[in-house]
Amino acid sequence: MTEPLIFEYSVPGRRGVELPEPDVPETPLPEGFQRADLPLPEVSEVDVVRHFLRLSQMNYGVDKGFYPLGSCTMKYNPKINEEMARLPGFAHLHPYQDPETVQGALALMYHLQEFLKEIGGFAAVSLQPAAGSQGELAGILMIRAYHRDRGEGKKRIKMLIPDSAHGTNPASSAMAGLQVVNIPSDRRGNIDLDALRKECDETVAGLMITNPNTLGLFDENLLEAIDLVHRCGGLIYGDGANMNALMGICKPGAMGFDVMHYNLHKTFSTPHGGGGPGAGPIGASERLAPYLPGPIVAIDRERTVRPDEPFYTFVWPERSIGRVRAFHGHFGVFVRAYTYIRMHGPRLREVSEAAVLNANYLLARLRGIYPVPYDRLCKHEFVIMGKIPGTPIRALDISKRLMDYGFHPPTNYFPLIVPEALMIEPTETESKATLDAFAEAMRRIAEEAREDPERLQQAPHTTPVRRLDEARAARSLVLRYAPAPAPQPASEPR
Ligand SMILES: *Cc1c(COP(=O)(O)O)cnc(C)c1O
Repeated sequence: MTEPLIFEYSVPGRRGVELPEPDVPETPLPEGFQRADLPLPEVSEVDVVRHFLRLSQMNYGVDKGFYPLGSCTMKYNPKINEEMARLPGFAHLHPYQDPETVQGALALMYHLQEFLKEIGGFAAVSLQPAAGSQGELAGILMIRAYHRDRGEGKKRIKMLIPDSAHGTNPASSAMAGLQVVNIPSDRRGNIDLDALRKECDETVAGLMITNPNTLGLFDENLLEAIDLVHRCGGLIYGDGANMNALMGICKPGAMGFDVMHYNLHKTFSTPHGGGGPGAGPIGASERLAPYLPGPIVAIDRERTVRPDEPFYTFVWPERSIGRVRAFHGHFGVFVRAYTYIRMHGPRLREVSEAAVLNANYLLARLRGIYPVPYDRLCKHEFVIMGKIPGTPIRALDISKRLMDYGFHPPTNYFPLIVPEALMIEPTETESKATLDAFAEAMRRIAEEAREDPERLQQAPHTTPVRRLDEARAARSLVLRYAPAPAPQPASEPR
């Protein structure tokens, strides 16, 4: 990093604010609170503003450019969501307030539950889980509780998971104490029904399926797979992080899913990653609804605050697995997701249609330049191989070079079943011009791979930091300023 850091602007005696003369007597700090030496930078207001603006510009975000990070759904987050979340009546609530004083907030949560029920086709929804992966854990604990109530808790210990599932799926199942059984995919990228059939017995707790799967494909064997597992007494967990492809088109609840999480921070446009916390509400079918984590919001018919207006209150599902989070979930995220759904209204389906169209358009433009391992109509994302025949170029080199062209790289090396995988999710919020520019960059990179492979292997060339040691960059972060000479990262992870 060549830019000066804030400490390097420091000039003795320079200041950003001028404090008025104190109008109270000075009191010395107690012993032990004083430091002889406190080396803070002495800078003006404009130095500080420029320092932080420069730092922010070194970062890459969805407000800065195209961010086709597969499976993460980095769509644009409309600013009206932020305006609504900042309304004082929402922003200044306290979780211990009496329900009578927060009827507006409870109404919003109630209606969000109702919208999600409708979108997913479920009997009930709990907004509690704080992320998709926490929704998974909660859903699997519900499945376990269900089997336990039927006297089969000890026997049903297997969770069947296709190899095209998201990585959190096996992790959540193992964390909930189940044995993970890997089910291979067939040649078209669907769950292999013969392999599934072999595992279907009285020890199955359930099937955990990501649909569309991480290849971006809608599983053509889905209904048959669900039926097989139901017939052996197992339940179906749906990973609904990819609802961006399905909204208004099909309902997982109607297809036989028993429990599913939504990712509000993906499908419903609330910021995530460095930008904010998420939320992973879960929907449940009739038989699993009593086990949902609580509390959830319901209408109390016996009470009113204002005539003709329902009274909203917290209730506990009958056989709830309990709380999975302090208080009531990420309320600020609920406001943003609710706003997003209301802004689209009955046209929410167009979001999914455009997401699928954009992905297929980009796939069509890249086909013939990069190998496509499972080449059929995709949903919201697709996977290509980051290989150029006859060159040493790998997926990583292509991703790094994309940064020089001003784009965030796609997801690399996932799913694991595709060598040199590049998983691309353009989302619906990008214009044809952006998709064309990205496709053109990918085409030029393929050309460069043949003409000047070293240039790719050393990329990126134009970013604030060059190519990093991926493992050390994540494990040996240097988070504190130290004066030059530049600090050497510790070799041991901290
Ligand atoms: C993102 C994602 C998850 C995990 O969600 P988090 O909110 O990041 O915990 C699970 N499954 C799929 C398919 C995903 O894309």
